[in-house]
Amino acid sequence: MVAGDFDLIQDTFITLSNRTIDLYLYLEKGFRDQGDYAMLALKKSMKWDEEKFGREYDLNRYMTVAVSDFNMGAMENKGLNIFNTKYILAKPQTATDTDYINIERVIGHEYFHNWSGNRITCRDWFQLTLKEGLTVLRDQLFTEDMTSQGVARIDVVNTMRNHQFPEDAGPMAHPIRPESYLKIDNFYTATVYEKGAEVIRMVRTLLTPDIFRKGMDYYFSHYDGQAVTTEDFIAAMEAASGKELTQFSRWYHQAGTPVLRVKTKYDANKKTYTIIIKQSCPPTPGQENKLPLHLPFAIGLIGKNCEDLTLQLQDENKSVKGTKILEIKKLEETFTFVDIAENPAPSLLRHFSAPVEMQYDYTNEELALLLRCDSDAFCRWEAGQRLMMNVIKAVAEAIAAGKNPVVDPILINGIHQLISKPMRDLNLLSRLLMFPSLKYLLTHLPQIELDVIFEAKTLIEKTVAETLKEAFEKLLKDNILFHDYVYNIIECGHRRIKNCALYYLLKHDKEKYHLLAFEQATQANNMTDQFGALGALNDLAVSHREKALAQFYERYQHEPLVVNKWFSLQASSTLPTVINEVKKLLHHPAFDINNPNNVYALLVTFGQNTLRFHAKNGEGYQLMVDQVLLIDAKNPQVSTRVVQPLTQWKQMDSVRGALMKQALQRLAQSNKLSDNLFEIVSKSVG
Ligand SMILES: [Zn+2]
Repeated sequence: MVAGDFDLIQDTFITLSNRTIDLYLYLEKGFRDQGDYAMLALKKSMKWDEEKFGREYDLNRYMTVAVSDFNMGAMENKGLNIFNTKYILAKPQTATDTDYINIERVIGHEYFHNWSGNRITCRDWFQLTLKEGLTVLRDQLFTEDMTSQGVARIDVVNTMRNHQFPEDAGPMAHPIRPESYLKIDNFYTATVYEKGAEVIRMVRTLLTPDIFRKGMDYYFSHYDGQAVTTEDFIAAMEAASGKELTQFSRWYHQAGTPVLRVKTKYDANKKTYTIIIKQSCPPTPGQENKLPLHLPFAIGLIGKNCEDLTLQLQDENKSVKGTKILEIKKLEETFTFVDIAENPAPSLLRHFSAPVEMQYDYTNEELALLLRCDSDAFCRWEAGQRLMMNVIKAVAEAIAAGKNPVVDPILINGIHQLISKPMRDLNLLSRLLMFPSLKYLLTHLPQIELDVIFEAKTLIEKTVAETLKEAFEKLLKDNILFHDYVYNIIECGHRRIKNCALYYLLKHDKEKYHLLAFEQATQANNMTDQFGALGALNDLAVSHREKALAQFYERYQHEPLVVNKWFSLQASSTLPTVINEVKKLLHHPAFDINNPNNVYALLVTFGQNTLRFHAKNGEGYQLMVDQVLLIDAKNPQVSTRVVQPLTQWKQMDSVRGALMKQALQRLAQSNKLSDNLFEIVSKSVG
């Protein structure tokens, strides 16, 4: 039950079998003008689930309530869904394109639960991934269809790498089907949700999408109205496909991110291309030894003329042009392709076909080729990320050795090619131009000091910006939209690429670009452009940043969701003053430590600020411990989210790691911890 004084938006949806469903959206008073997009997204979700999964809504009424004080994003209850306002409210003046995309995703997610979660539910809490992994996969496929397929996938991979992989490498590592828990609240994790979705996606890839759909039909009809287990789900897939998934089921019981080491060999005389894949998985708490996993490995080979080669395995008699799915089961597998006329560049783990860490020694030339013309969006982006990382590594090593750093022109040329003839999917282009996160770089370049990585990355971005100044200026100009804002994925692409160009131009220390960004931040007719410009100014110690931030608050102080954006922007700055800004903001009249959205915006964002949270004097860690103790007394579900980055102390260098451990020990000494926080702190310190 939900009680309160709400405004109501009403609509209807006609189902597949011609029934009329009444749709009710309840909003807190005064926000009636911000619910239209959520309603539209709901109707799109209902139609999509009918078309893609044959699922029709079963009741006559579907209700949604949006509230501003809520720990989670949303909660599915049969017929009455409760949402955090963050995933409902939108109008062009206050919501960004990314907000629109997230609203559509979360509305879809909760709606899809009507079948995967409500009609068929979990036998017990250990089965949480049965409904969450499956429903996350369904919302991901929905987003791929509604937006840019490649970008949707890349964004999911970023979430996996920045949140799930560290969890899988930390003290709380658990299989997607946990074996035990003190507080189930602590298992609403990236592993249960996002890795759970990856596991079901692998089933879909191994079976093919058509057979997977048959498996889903079987699952929905066979278990309708029941409370079932992950084994039942796998059994349904086996029944519909005739494929044995016994070994595959290990994914439900083994924690940790598997590592694939890939080697290739081209034989010019025999015209064969051989690929050797070795799998392993690092130990995780309670699981020293791992068994080999069954997984799909999607591969393509790219020739010099930028085209996918035709692939035929030695022991098969049919060929395929484009992507081939290889099935990996043993610790080491070898595959040989025949009739390969030239030494190709391998496009590996296409569409991120398995949630693994893939290691392969690419040359920078191969990466540049893949960045230019891989037909798989994920691999194309991945090639760029690897090329950027290689260049950062070389520059960082030169800096550390006191030598003069040189930026490899192959990267600058690669970026120049991309922006001088922009591709059709500008959303994808904007992703290709973004450097890997500091967190990702730190994990992959553990021998290099964090500050040096940051220095190298900054220097390279600046060099790219200066060398390609004219091209970025043109890119910016060509993508300005002069009409009123409307959200759709095409226009979203124009705005993304324009703001990306602005980001690069601001790497110059030039007053005229500061002014350009300031004007956009204060005068644009939509939040996406205002916030994009603020983001571009956010890392610069210039007066235009201060002025723009002050004006932004002045203008939006009565819009709580926008004030949260303002908090998170300041908490994510790379400026050295950020910790003092965060401390000041904790006492800002708009900040309420009892409001989960405020805490996520300011403190969780700061915890993800790799450079400044991990300041070498440990100040960031101390600040976090103080706040965690305050929050835990009132809201353990939130304190456990805030403490998260401290638990990853083993993944940092020894100096920082020791300081983080000390901070955790300070928490452990408190005798007032909630059960939730106690479970996490005790597992992390031990
Ligand atoms: Zn859910």
